Amino acid sequence: MADHYESFRAEVRAFLARTLTPEIRARARRQAGVAAERDLGIWWHRTLHAQGWSAPAWPREYGGPGWDVVERHIFEEECALAGAPQLFLGGLQLVGPVLMAFGTEAQKAFFLPRLLSGDHYWCQGFSEPGSGSDLASLRTAAVRDGDHYVINGGKIWTTHAHWANWIFMLVRTSTAGRPQAGITFLLSPMDAPGITVSPIRSMSGEHEVNQVFFDNLRVPVENRVGDENQGWAIAKYLLEFERGGSYAAPARVSLEEARAAATRAGDDPPLWGDPFFRRRYAETEIAILAQGWTEKRVIAGLAAGGNPGDAMASVLKVRGSEVQQQAAELAVLALGEAAIPDQRAALEPGSEVPVIGPDIALRPSARHMNLRAASIFGGSNEIQRNIIARLTLNSR
Ligand SMILES: Cc1cc2nc3c(=O)[nH]c(=O)nc-3n(C[C@H](O)[C@H](O)[C@H](O)COP(=O)(O)OP(=O)(O)OC[C@H]3O[C@@H](n4cnc5c(N)ncnc54)[C@H](O)[C@@H]3O)c2cc1C
Repeated sequence: MADHYESFRAEVRAFLARTLTPEIRARARRQAGVAAERDLGIWWHRTLHAQGWSAPAWPREYGGPGWDVVERHIFEEECALAGAPQLFLGGLQLVGPVLMAFGTEAQKAFFLPRLLSGDHYWCQGFSEPGSGSDLASLRTAAVRDGDHYVINGGKIWTTHAHWANWIFMLVRTSTAGRPQAGITFLLSPMDAPGITVSPIRSMSGEHEVNQVFFDNLRVPVENRVGDENQGWAIAKYLLEFERGGSYAAPARVSLEEARAAATRAGDDPPLWGDPFFRRRYAETEIAILAQGWTEKRVIAGLAAGGNPGDAMASVLKVRGSEVQQQAAELAVLALGEAAIPDQRAALEPGSEVPVIGPDIALRPSARHMNLRAASIFGGSNEIQRNIIARLTLNSR
């Protein structure tokens, strides 16, 4: 079996060496946010699809490659180490599993192949101004009109809404009873009349998130997932996949940046020889290793047919986001004053603007600032701690 995994790793490496040209790697290196720029991300998604590898976590019957937990881990690790573009996972990781679990046969037949191929680029319309942690208070209204819902209201912090061609969203279909009981899960193309996307610039200067407005948007009833007013249960299921996922591999990339910065030529004496830095480096590396093993345990559970499970998904999210932040901060620390210049112009997709200072200074500061949001999105870490306490302490 060990031989099988060695040859699988060699196969993945050979594929990555073949497909990731130096130009592609250089473009991918400019990614400070959650995913690669649109064109690069779509190109990578299609390249993986042509290889049959675009959805490592999907069951074989829906087009997944049928990998076991070890193979998935090897694939993820090799992609991160090779500097492959990071896919935006709104489709494959979130709405895909929801459709498999709650979609009609017609929905599965239409959407899943398009998710797999990368033709559909999905964004997530859950949060609203005033409804983030308290998501059940959402107010975007969907009123039934024959075989359509008419939607008015809007969403905020919608990542990549400006690039997506589909949105999945939670809307209010009833105000009777508990707020959770009146929510419905809908799907809409982003080019439907009545949708406007307005950009929000983050503190790292990137345009990653948006505000989305719905003005008499009409969504056919056939684009409803599950029953009317069943949306809360579906959203909870989806959020377990959002909070699961992989944090250790990207953190390792920041750790390597920290090492490269601490050992860079011309730094005299090199920071790498400093015992205080080395201690922080070792602590971060240990935290990443521990996170990686926790992720493997969760993947093993998934491979056995489960979902990540409420409490475990929250544990992964809290620790994973903290570990990513810790590693990104270490890279900034290691750069010292070289972390100060504003590299936004050089980070723009397709930019030919040179890096200010050493090459290694391109990304860490932007990455560090971008990752401040990691303990907020996907449900803030305070909320995750509440969930962990409720689910684990109460059962004792
Ligand atoms: C970069 C980024 C990308 C995002 N992408 C998306 C996306 O694509 N789609 C989407 O739908 N949403 C997205 N979000 C929204 C995200 O899910 C919310 O920001 C998050 O759930 C927090 O909600 P809020 O911003 O309304 O803050 P609030 O809920 O107002 O919280 C403010 C503070 O109070 C704390 N708090 C609130 N309630 C409690 C409580 N009961 N106990 C303890 N502490 C509490 C919170 O932890 C937080 O620190 C994104 C957010 C960011 C920053």
